[in-house]
Amino acid sequence: MLQKTPQNVPGRFYVHINCINCSLCSEAAGNIFGCNHEEGYEYVRKQPQNAEELELAEEMRRLCPANAIRDGG
Ligand code: SF4
Repeated sequence: MLQKTPQNVPGRFYVHINCINCSLCSEAAGNIFGCNHEEGYEYVRKQPQNAEELELAEEMRRLCPANAIRDGG
């Protein structure tokens, strides 16, 4: 079973429970990643819809310090 944070929308990318809530992704790409401040985790709020958003999601995946942004294929 994939260990996703709650609230991930269905689709290719998701945030794993390893997320340390550094907020890098939701601050740099807030259209794709959301932050649940109360519970302390990020999640994919919208899957990439075009090439630009896909590149942004890939970039956040590479930069995530906890390796928590996963590309499920
Ligand atoms: S960059 Fe990674 S660790 Fe930081 S908030 Fe996003 S998913 Fe969590």
